[in-house]
Amino acid sequence: MRILVTEDDAALAEALQFSLTQAGYAVDWVTNGAAADEALKDDVFGLVILDLGLPKLDGFEVLRRLRRRNAPLPVLILSGREKPEEKVQALDLGADDYLVKPFSLSELQARVRALLRRGQGGAALVISYGGLSLDTIGRTVSVNGTTLPLSVHEVGVLEILLYRFGRVVSKEQLVEQLYSYDSDVGYNAIEVYVHRLRKKIEGSGLNVRTVYGRGYLLEQRAASPIQ
Ligand code: CA
Repeated sequence: MRILVTEDDAALAEALQFSLTQAGYAVDWVTNGAAADEALKDDVFGLVILDLGLPKLDGFEVLRRLRRRNAPLPVLILSGREKPEEKVQALDLGADDYLVKPFSLSELQARVRALLRRGQGGAALVISYGGLSLDTIGRTVSVNGTTLPLSVHEVGVLEILLYRFGRVVSKEQLVEQLYSYDSDVGYNAIEVYVHRLRKKIEGSGLNVRTVYGRGYLLEQRAASPIQ
């Protein structure tokens, strides 16, 4: 899942970036509203964290333009101001949640998780297929109750495939959702993650199938006579 952080306070932005990256999200950071407006036109983000007081274009205007394009992605507002009318204005413009600075990173994480769950149509905290379960909060995967040793990126790939179970996901889509703009990791890394993931989930009854020229899909492994 890719998150856009729009924040001109470098220290805060770096803390957000670190905390969210640790939690397994891909994070892009822009320092002004005009850059946020441009980045959001790409439609690759699962959520945006938006400061209100920004150079070039303020957070209200970024939000207004985003909603004018009918972009549905969740918006979490950060504000240094505690004026109630600004909160009302931001929510009326289509913000989904609002945090007043200073806030704790654990509260921010919890609100991000809640918004992303809602963005997935109120998806369950745990996504299960057959014997495999992915805990979207703890970022762990288990098969029949045994936790698998998956890396952060392998969990990320699996999560995307699970949300689109039975449908093809292209490498481009995986790269876009897993990595940030400034990351130099590309398609080769995706192939490596998928290869490892496929091996690690072998006992789950699920398989990551390569659809040549199109991408990958997660499916039930063909029924085996021995279980
Ligand atoms: Ca600011």
